[in-house]
Amino acid sequence: MKIAVLKEGAPGETRVSATPETVKKFIALGAEMAVESGAGEHASIADADYSNAGAKVGDRAATLAGADIVFGVQGPDPESLGGAKAGAWIVASLNPFGDRPRVDAYAAKGYEALAMEFMPRITRAQSMDILSSQSNLAGYKSVLIAANEYGRAFPMMMTAAGTVSAAKAFVMGVGVAGLQAIATARRMGAQVSATDVRSATKEQIQSLGAKPIFVENVKGIEGEGSGGYATEMSEEYQKAQAELVSSHIAKQDIVITTALIPGRPAPRLISDAQIATMRPGSVIVDLAAESGGNVEGAVSGETVVRHGVKIVGAKNMAGTLAADSSALFSRNLFNFLSAFWDKEKNAPVLDEEVGDAIRLTKSGAVVNARLLG
Ligand code: NAD
Repeated sequence: MKIAVLKEGAPGETRVSATPETVKKFIALGAEMAVESGAGEHASIADADYSNAGAKVGDRAATLAGADIVFGVQGPDPESLGGAKAGAWIVASLNPFGDRPRVDAYAAKGYEALAMEFMPRITRAQSMDILSSQSNLAGYKSVLIAANEYGRAFPMMMTAAGTVSAAKAFVMGVGVAGLQAIATARRMGAQVSATDVRSATKEQIQSLGAKPIFVENVKGIEGEGSGGYATEMSEEYQKAQAELVSSHIAKQDIVITTALIPGRPAPRLISDAQIATMRPGSVIVDLAAESGGNVEGAVSGETVVRHGVKIVGAKNMAGTLAADSSALFSRNLFNFLSAFWDKEKNAPVLDEEVGDAIRLTKSGAVVNARLLG
């Protein structure tokens, strides 16, 4: 069983899908590990570190030759996988809704593409969940970026020269990234409030010492929702939410938005008119910018200024912490494949629940229900 670890090809991608730690673990399981030279460069991992861990380091052709499984952080270009075995597994974050042509191309080439972001949200798969491991780091980094862009301090400071008041930070969308953003902003001394459509998050917000801001009298999502995910809200809810946000946002210095709906464009939470009510110098970080944006005017990968407010359109936030995000992503991949490793076959054998959820293509066809339905 040969596993190929590729150097990422997407512009700006800094992460790598295996570390020396996981290379060693896969070898202990019985796999042969091949790493493309330079794969770990941006995550501070040298080729020699991989060799010392037992991997064969070589050029792309040597890495792919005879590979049963190909690892990536982002899905590798289907045209660039020559040499991998027929029907090889491609295990990566494949952006199935956002890049359907690539999924079709994996099918056409006969690869079995496994999308790690489709991992079901079941207890035994928590350690395999790349969305959680990467969102957690993104939530943390979003606050650091906001603090850096903000021309004032976060904590209240009482000095001989006078008092600096605490920054007011508002987090919209309290999933994994939002919870980490709340915790980070609190640690830095901001006064934090937060909102979500899922009522279950109210308690979580309070437990982190922040103030919940919730639409009252219009039904949100009770409990956890399917797999913890949100769905699109009714028009009535959206209107009530917009009114609530309008009155709250004008008093905020920092806003972090993280709201996502799987398979749909990100919900629009902040309009240009609402931005205009904020104090000049305030900062908004839109973590959903890559999925269409929660904030009107946000541009993924850029910082724009509207009405004196800086709007940071996040792009691959986890990638700005390449060493940690790579370590966690790599462990997610190891936890996944090792859980299904069949010792006799010396290969992973997926069960139906996980296999059907993450498998996008097989034997030349697109087979995933979420893409076909
Ligand atoms: P996500 O990235 O899909 O979305 C971020 C947040 O935005 C969610 O909390 C969502 O409810 C919220 N949101 C969506 N539309 C909104 C709107 N219009 N206004 C305000 N907020 C809106 O979420 P996530 O980080 O994946 O987490 C979702 C839940 O799943 C959490 O409760 C998390 O703990 C849970 N989870 C479970 C597992 C597991 O069991 N394996 C793994 C990861 C996360």
